[in-house]
Amino acid sequence: MQKDFLNINECSKCGICRSVCPIFLAVNDEVISPRGKISLVEAFLEEKVSDIGRYTDIIRSCIKCMRCSDVCPVGVRVEKIIQSARELLYPNIPPEAKETFNFILNNPSEFFRSKLNEHSRDRQENFPLWFLPLFFHNKAYLPQLAEKTVIDKYDEYIKADNSSSLQVSLFVGCSINYSNTFIADSAIEVLKNLNVNIFIPKDQLCCSAPLLLYGDIEGAREYALRNIKALMVEESDAIITLCPACGVTFIQDYENIIGENIDNFTNKVYDISEFIDIHTNYKIKKMELSVTYHDPCYLKLGQKVFNEPRQILAKSAELIEMKNADKCCGLGGTLGLFHPEISEQIGKKKIESIIQTKSDIIATGCPGCIMFIRDMLKRQGMGKEVLHTIQILEKGLSEL
Ligand code: SF4
Ligand code: SF4
Repeated sequence: MQKDFLNINECSKCGICRSVCPIFLAVNDEVISPRGKISLVEAFLEEKVSDIGRYTDIIRSCIKCMRCSDVCPVGVRVEKIIQSARELLYPNIPPEAKETFNFILNNPSEFFRSKLNEHSRDRQENFPLWFLPLFFHNKAYLPQLAEKTVIDKYDEYIKADNSSSLQVSLFVGCSINYSNTFIADSAIEVLKNLNVNIFIPKDQLCCSAPLLLYGDIEGAREYALRNIKALMVEESDAIITLCPACGVTFIQDYENIIGENIDNFTNKVYDISEFIDIHTNYKIKKMELSVTYHDPCYLKLGQKVFNEPRQILAKSAELIEMKNADKCCGLGGTLGLFHPEISEQIGKKKIESIIQTKSDIIATGCPGCIMFIRDMLKRQGMGKEVLHTIQILEKGLSEL
């Protein structure tokens, strides 16, 4: 953690990072800008912050999109500094919330199948939502929990009919495992169709991103070690993620939280569209529909994947680029939970860009963005389909 604070002193307060931060651009409040957050963390480290509640609120209003670090002329890693600041706040988290984290860690299935299901039926009660980035403020549309999780539904090994020598370990991620299972269904169908053998380890857990958001570095380390153990089987040529929040956690956070070089793991991590574009020779029938693509922050800026989904979509349908495709949709981890008004402001701009394209379908590569864009469209009375890139590829393959 200490090393992440090291280059905080190199910040010259030039303010260039303000021009790209979606949170600052939405609210135009210096204190909430990357530069403002750096100053606040410095004040906190010097024990000059008196209002810890307000400080916590501001520190939680970063979506870790990394845009600021990308443009910083002196290489300050703002999102890492904010992550370290969150870790320092972890002791302030109430013990009941920590107990819940531990409960999830040890009984993930039981938690999601019983407690969460029970609470999601009546969200008006005082459900302690604040620790679960799966949920947003009360007005939001929430997808139903799946009858059967992906992990329960499929065998651990799925052998393709005309099996090739390729095998992947599939990391499902909570959002898809417990709710948006249709994304995994499509991914599995596509991989089978492309003769790729699939290993879906039953021992996989949450990627740990929610724990990192709340600064629980010890909990995150335990998740990371267990996930690596589950996914790293000799036979697998790649580890596939369907959600970039998981992908970026694997690639950017695991090494830091484990504290040792894990290149043998991170070099194998691919987003599903990246893997398919690079490692398979798929043939597809172009469908008579138009699609526009939204770049999830973590996929473009974290996993550096933006051409591959476009290649897939352009082969599958008429691809119409939206303006500012790589601007945040507004979801931003827990942003929608703590700052729904900022989230909505950012989301409205994304919806304007989408509408301008007049496309039939919206595609993106993140279950969180899908959920949020659907919600925003729904609020404006529009029922357009918002699909994961892999669902569009599945549609195209089935038309052959
Ligand atoms: S973080 Fe970088 S870009 Fe932002 S104010 Fe500091 S030096 Fe400038
Ligand atoms: S990581 Fe993104 S949201 Fe956080 S301060 Fe930087 S630009 Fe703003």
